[in-house]
Amino acid sequence: MMDSAYRDILHRCFRCGWCKFPLNYTDFNCPAYLKYRFESFSSGGRMWLIRAWQEGEITPSERLSQILFSCVTCRNCVEACAMPGIKDSLVDLFIEARADMVERGTIPPLVRDYFKAISVGGNPYRLPAQDRAKWSCGLGLERYQGQEYLFYVGDEGAFDELGQHMARSVALLLRRSGVSFGILGSDELTDGNDVHALGEKGLAEYLARQNIELMQELGVKKVITLSPHAFHAMRNRYPLHGSTAAVYHYTQILQPLVARLAPVLQGERVVTYHDPCYLGRWNGEYRAPRAILKSVKGLKSVEMDRSMQNALCCGGGGGNFFTDMLGTGPDLAARARVREALATGADTIAVACPQCYRMLADAVRDEGAQEKVRVCELTEIVAEAVPA
Ligand code: SF4
Ligand code: SF4
Repeated sequence: MMDSAYRDILHRCFRCGWCKFPLNYTDFNCPAYLKYRFESFSSGGRMWLIRAWQEGEITPSERLSQILFSCVTCRNCVEACAMPGIKDSLVDLFIEARADMVERGTIPPLVRDYFKAISVGGNPYRLPAQDRAKWSCGLGLERYQGQEYLFYVGDEGAFDELGQHMARSVALLLRRSGVSFGILGSDELTDGNDVHALGEKGLAEYLARQNIELMQELGVKKVITLSPHAFHAMRNRYPLHGSTAAVYHYTQILQPLVARLAPVLQGERVVTYHDPCYLGRWNGEYRAPRAILKSVKGLKSVEMDRSMQNALCCGGGGGNFFTDMLGTGPDLAARARVREALATGADTIAVACPQCYRMLADAVRDEGAQEKVRVCELTEIVAEAVPA
């Protein structure tokens, strides 16, 4: 049963439907609603279903769990909701409802498989732990042993091909910028952000405590994360379990340092930046990534119709990157986002999250737009503009 504070909120939604849109009302901005076009998949519709379920008017079903687990926790509804008393709690409420479903054991098989992969094998890719260090092979990076920062790359940085590429690029630019850091290699553990978002609070807390214990043993005081998801968990959830480490997303560390490298592009490049939800809407960091782009000479930066607080999520958040609850098709958020990027005339979509990187790169392929636009991580753009 959900906490009474959340149950109270359920009654206050008056179904105005604003939560489906960005604040500039350009298009549907809730990835779950965008895909399914049923009110039940929007924030307001989901609230009413949860209310009916919690009051015993409907019983848990496969369809109800599909609807609950389709939310990608992008927080657009939090920005857009018309009701001040409930808006800040909307996504927390959905996570609570999922936690209730997890406790009752009525979760979709794709979500169950994700939890199982992490519980049994320690990562969602079902790959051996020793493979975690492969991304850093040949770079000569030091293990963490008291350097100023720990650089934490997480599951996608360790196992996804584009994530590995990104982890290498960020590590090299950190080194080139004179940042003192070490890595954990195969000793890294899943950060647990998406586990929490999917409602497995016990497993998320276990992972947080394991990571905190390891960092405290090593004397880590400052952490740089590759992923905004790890950044969010370590910055906002880990302190609840005793962590005192300061946590930064890599863009925040690099932003004041990149200009010193005097990056200059050969030829003009038009770039549009895609805000990751866990960096932007969840943590308010819109400036650092844009400042990095601004420091690159020869780069023209253009904004999509929906940017910053209004950005359309890539659809990978809330664990959907791994569970794929939204499936395939032209109405996927990532594909809509690529079409929006193409409309700006940009030749490059810049990303700062390994999940966005994979989601948007796949969407460019699915849209058949490889000749028109490419997805590039921010430090890769900088590296192209800095003489070797
Ligand atoms: S968090 Fe995002 S996906 Fe979930 S209901 Fe709100 S707008 Fe839709
Ligand atoms: S905007 Fe807020 S009040 Fe309106 S339907 Fe959505 S959740 Fe309910």
